[in-house]
Amino acid sequence: MGDILAFAEQHEGSIRSGSYEVVSAAAQVAAGLGGATHALLLGSPGLSGAAGRLGAYGADVIRVAEHEALASYSPEVYAATVADAVREGGYTAVVFAATSQGKDLAPRVAALLDVPLASDVTGIGTDGGGVTARRPVYAGKAFVRLAIDATPAILSIRPNVFGASERAAAGTIESFTPDVTEPKSRVVERKAAEGASVDVAEASIVVSGGRGMRDPENWNLLEDLREALGPEAALGASRAVVDAGWRPHGEQVGQTGKTVAPKLYIAVGISGAIQHLAGMRTSQTIVAVNKDPDAPIFGVADYGIVGDAFEVLPRLTEAIKVLKHGG
Ligand code: FAD
Repeated sequence: MGDILAFAEQHEGSIRSGSYEVVSAAAQVAAGLGGATHALLLGSPGLSGAAGRLGAYGADVIRVAEHEALASYSPEVYAATVADAVREGGYTAVVFAATSQGKDLAPRVAALLDVPLASDVTGIGTDGGGVTARRPVYAGKAFVRLAIDATPAILSIRPNVFGASERAAAGTIESFTPDVTEPKSRVVERKAAEGASVDVAEASIVVSGGRGMRDPENWNLLEDLREALGPEAALGASRAVVDAGWRPHGEQVGQTGKTVAPKLYIAVGISGAIQHLAGMRTSQTIVAVNKDPDAPIFGVADYGIVGDAFEVLPRLTEAIKVLKHGG
């Protein structure tokens, strides 16, 4: 049985935290199939120094492709390099994160290898020597279980669903210089989204606001709560407020926005329309604050606070500050 490859993302030379989860998920598949877990990291020369930690999350071998052309994400160059590495390694499965980069890269790699892709997967298993996957369909109202016949099985996993498990072992780092052809496009400038410390799709805590917040000026209440929760928390928004120009599209959660699955999702003044639920219903714990006890958001919430956001938010923020810092 072949080995499993985990594609690890980096940003400016630092490994993205979601990559540890991808490696752990790949290790789970490798354990089920009896193969080894390899991680693949692409970046500019010198990157291997940052690669070691991938071993602690399950990578037996960490392959680091170092080349100036790989310094930042370039769809063509990255897809060709990953596809070459997959062919060379003869992997049984390749696991990506369903992040914005992974959503772009995984289908390109699948197309180059002429195999199907199971995207946005929320469960992986092994059965009779093959890989199985579970993924949501119909805006999260149902799940399908896929038995993947193709080799390699290409999967992208929904961030924050699988979790990263550390082990007391280190992987072997193998650096190489891939053959890279001049890309047709290149990144000329990169601009960070205003105010966003962590992308909403990758954050482990999301504080989302909807039309019930009444005015963009009131977002300071959500920002206070986000800050109290710590640097792993991000702001999210419903489409109603994005369409109104109150918040940037990058924060939109839902069918036409981002899909999130954080450990904690706090929805404030959001009714819970099906299109919103499609993007957040697989969150581990959902807290809803809404003054309407019949709001559909309470149908998916683990904890519901029926009340006025303007009274609840300051009290919630204060309580979290006390819990985290003792006041
Ligand atoms: P509303 O539905 O207006 O809800 C506001 C809520 O705030 C109400 O429940 C109200 O009780 C509550 N409220 C009011 N005042 C307070 C207060 N003081 N304190 C507490 N609660 C209060 N929507 C998305 O979010 N994401 C998507 O990706 C998306 N994609 C879509 C795609 C399509 C094709 C279509 C047709 C629609 C899509 N929508 C999407 C829109 C979706 O149908 C809803 O219109 C939208 O989610 C509503 O946003 P909202 O909950 O903020 O606003």
